[in-house]
Amino acid sequence: MKTWDYRVFWDEALKQIEREVSDQEFVMWFQQLEYVRSGPEDIIIQVPSSFYRDQVKQRYRELIERKIAELSGRTLALDFDVKPPEQPAPSAEPAPKKSGKRKSSPVIVPAAKGPAPGLSPDYTFDNFVVGDNNRFAANAALAISKNPGSTYNPCLIYGGVGLGKTHLLQSIGNAVWVTQENVRIVYVTAEDFTNEFIRSIQDNKTHVFKNRYRHADVLLIDDIHFLQKKHETQEELFHTFNALFDARKQMVFTSDRPVSEIKDITERLQNRFTRGLTVDLQPPQMETAVAILKTKAEKTNIHVSDDVISLICQKITTNVRDLEAALTRIAAYAELVNKDISVDVAQRQLKDFFSSPLQNNVTVDVIQRTVAAYFNLSANELKGKKRTRAVAFPRQLAMYITREITESSMTDIGLEFGGRDHTTVMHACQKIESRKRTDPTLEDVIQLLIRQTKEAGSKA
Ligand code: ADP
Ligand code: MG
Repeated sequence: MKTWDYRVFWDEALKQIEREVSDQEFVMWFQQLEYVRSGPEDIIIQVPSSFYRDQVKQRYRELIERKIAELSGRTLALDFDVKPPEQPAPSAEPAPKKSGKRKSSPVIVPAAKGPAPGLSPDYTFDNFVVGDNNRFAANAALAISKNPGSTYNPCLIYGGVGLGKTHLLQSIGNAVWVTQENVRIVYVTAEDFTNEFIRSIQDNKTHVFKNRYRHADVLLIDDIHFLQKKHETQEELFHTFNALFDARKQMVFTSDRPVSEIKDITERLQNRFTRGLTVDLQPPQMETAVAILKTKAEKTNIHVSDDVISLICQKITTNVRDLEAALTRIAAYAELVNKDISVDVAQRQLKDFFSSPLQNNVTVDVIQRTVAAYFNLSANELKGKKRTRAVAFPRQLAMYITREITESSMTDIGLEFGGRDHTTVMHACQKIESRKRTDPTLEDVIQLLIRQTKEAGSKA
């Protein structure tokens, strides 16, 4: 019988791939692959989790298969084996006798532990609706909760307000809490971390502070964008990070923007945050939004018709928090008038919701000022004649955002931007669209600027 061993080709393929992809990609996705065996038509590779398998399949399967074909002259299909989770260290007790039938391993039901300290019991994976907008992040979070400290460390979740960052972060903590014994889970917002740190210095108790954070098994820090300009806290977190990383303890962070967009933060800390896996959350599409609201309505015993739920989801596309707020508002109104809410009435209620200050007063002027400030320019420069790159790109971005969030026509926008022609505006929008396709972080910058614009508008 012929034995097939393509290990050499596998090793060589990996070497070549290492030269072709970025260091981070290689460390992230290739270093943990292990050759298992091969047959006449396939090659089996072991991966640490099913999440990992799906990602590698989707991103790299073709590349790997092509490499192996080039090297070995045979077309082999790539197949994956998921590594079984590590078993806990064997105890002194005798192993249970194997019976003939394959038994699933006993489910360890933890002694009723009560809720995890410092975490909300509502933030669980069960309560989190998964859709295209958050699937990658949700799967990563779930994988982490099953194997903290091993595969994706650290993990950074970023996305705009109200998109579920805190929910996912705390779900990891809650899941680890119920499945592991003697585990120290520390959840903190970056703001509280900062305040505690400052207080510990004032009270001469930094050792207590260090002790708390450097001995966590799972450290979850929410909203790290808050650390902008907080130099001493950044320094402290840097050391906390290193201690935990060396001890292979899991860390997960959230941020409302990509780390590269957090200003005034040391490079080495930025570096640490993005050393592992970075995932993002986007606003939900219609179907997911409907599923989220239906779940929410069920959980909280709110009775509204499917039509009303659809209406809310059509009208509110910003984020999940706003969706929930709209639902609550309509439910409260229904209770007040003590009857079911028709679509018409809901529409009227939502109208009020929209005329809340946050959605209003977004003028071209506010957009120009917001975008200009972001790029350290003046609004006049955006409207001016200069066409250097430092001005041209922010100007295009501001035009694009104006087009997105106001009703202005291309002609109007051109006029507002120093009397330019509508074709210039069209060109700017196309430019940004195509740049978005090659630079995935651009969308986040745009969303951030839109949020800032709306906030600025509400104060105007
Ligand atoms: P963020 O921290 O990103 O600002 P949160 O985690 O506080 O957002 O989420 C805002 C609200 O939306 C919370 O009540 C949360 O439970 C809910 N939420 C967000 N995403 C989902 C989802 N996919 N499924 C269910 N609820 C969600
Ligand atoms: Mg949050």
